[in-house]
Amino acid sequence: MIEQSLVLIKPDGVQRSLIGTVIQRFEQVGLKISALKLVQATRDQADRHYALTEEWMMAVYTKAKTKYEADGKAFPYPDHKAYGGSIKDGLVEFLAFAPVVAMVVEGEGAVALIRKIVGATEPASSAPGTIRGDFSHDTYAMSNLQNRPIRNLIHASGNVEEAKNELPIWFTPSEIMTINLAVEPVQYDEKRFRA
Ligand code: ADP
Repeated sequence: MIEQSLVLIKPDGVQRSLIGTVIQRFEQVGLKISALKLVQATRDQADRHYALTEEWMMAVYTKAKTKYEADGKAFPYPDHKAYGGSIKDGLVEFLAFAPVVAMVVEGEGAVALIRKIVGATEPASSAPGTIRGDFSHDTYAMSNLQNRPIRNLIHASGNVEEAKNELPIWFTPSEIMTINLAVEPVQYDEKRFRA
């Protein structure tokens, strides 16, 4: 299925001049950029982007706790709501602090493929070859000690449903272009290589 994903190069990615490098990672795998802009997000926009659901708070809490425990450390935060809430507050402030690049990236199975290219939430645990693994080495431990969000350069929609909810926060329908790239028949046309 052809899917669209919302990708943000967060303020740390823009500040580190990684815009071109990040876009190249998606283009080189054959995905298509169908919308692209620099945005100074408002706090409201950042707030809508990170919806504070029970599920999200639990996921954030569990991911960090699992990593602490794998490292042989006790996780010092007892409550997923307090922990998730404080992560969200920091994130909203961070995302609205300086310009981000927003883009819509499109292609067959794009949402999961992009998550694979982006890597795990914690850059230090992200595999080499992923964007987060290649260009950052931040940790849960360091970011929690400093009471700030992990600087992992990039956001990408977690699933197709999330992508559908996130796209309108950043783009109007007319900003998302229908582009037929010359390379697409090579990738997707079933008759292309038939005699
Ligand atoms: P992802 O961006 O990998 O989808 P999440 O949706 O779980 O991750 O979290 C959103 C963002 O919040 C992360 O990209 C990261 O910047 C920050 N974050 C998540 N969990 C933590 C944490 N435990 N400590 C600090 N920052 C966090």
